[in-house]
Amino acid sequence: MKELISVVVPVYNEAAGVRRFLDEGLLPVLMGLDVDAEVIVVDDGSRDKTLVEVRGSRAYDKLPVRVVALSRNFGKEAALSAGLKESQGVAVIMIDADGQHPAEAIPQMIEKWREGCMVVTAVRGQNTTKHRLGSRLYYRMMRMMGNRDIVVGAMDFRLMDRAVVDDFNEFAEHNRLVRGLVDWLGYDQAYIKVQTRGRMDGKATYSAKKLMALAGDSLVSMSRTPLMVFGYIGIFIMVVSAIFGLFMLMEQYMMGDPLKLDWSGAVGMSAFVSFLVGLVLVSQAITAMYISQIHAEAKGRPLYVIDRRKSDKPAKVNGIKGSGAKK
Ligand code: UDP
Ligand code: MG
Repeated sequence: MKELISVVVPVYNEAAGVRRFLDEGLLPVLMGLDVDAEVIVVDDGSRDKTLVEVRGSRAYDKLPVRVVALSRNFGKEAALSAGLKESQGVAVIMIDADGQHPAEAIPQMIEKWREGCMVVTAVRGQNTTKHRLGSRLYYRMMRMMGNRDIVVGAMDFRLMDRAVVDDFNEFAEHNRLVRGLVDWLGYDQAYIKVQTRGRMDGKATYSAKKLMALAGDSLVSMSRTPLMVFGYIGIFIMVVSAIFGLFMLMEQYMMGDPLKLDWSGAVGMSAFVSFLVGLVLVSQAITAMYISQIHAEAKGRPLYVIDRRKSDKPAKVNGIKGSGAKK
């Protein structure tokens, strides 16, 4: 039997383009491979006709396509995680359904994997997306925070060996960025340059705001907001008292009190104490951020929920036969 390769496709409100992606992007590429392939379409709680489109596609007939439907929108990272968990292949490829990830790169990925690379990552050759500035900034920040090995332009379009996927499936944290965790795992990585394209249809379901929340860490939950407000007050107090203290020092001691303000020692003291109060408020807010993260993780909620009624049953997949006969 040939080796089985899984392709995980997260979809969220992609009715406009998903069929084209499956039939014109993925299908010809997978048919041309000398491996068996299964496609796992993870529906991330789409509210449009995405699933109808998927099930009506030619690819759905010709390939072992399996729909895994989440019970609501959990976000792309959760959708990918669900797909990785449900996949059975000896290697797993993650690819977006909006046509931005060129499926034609898949054979090259498999080739690299056969050469022994555990993870093959597609890197944006020419950056055309609107998030360009945002992603540059994001990568720069990640580097500054000590994530030294981050490759600029690395995408979620990746191939992973089964061993890596198994390791990945062990992660229990919720606040996750799939590619970050895959990088964290290490292993031998290979990078291939691909040409990204604009979305085929529909609009990006990841708004800039959503992306910022993702990059800037978890959502700002209500429980954290009040403490953040005190943090900002703290910053304000620190700045005001520092400016005031410096002004006083310069006016009185360096310039010899030209304004005849004749500060008492108590005034200097209070400026200093206010500064410290501001500092305490700020450090409290920072602590609050840690706590809110711990809180989120400690709840131990499942990362996603699969709606089994809407999903296809896992089948023992045999993949495509050479000519693309039905499963
Ligand atoms: N996606 C998803 N859940 C979401 C948002 C997006 O599964 O909540 C899917 C989407 O259908 C697409 C992929 O993730 O296949 C990338 O989404 P998008 O093109 O909106 O993001 P970007 O290209 O800006 O990263
Ligand atoms: Mg996209």
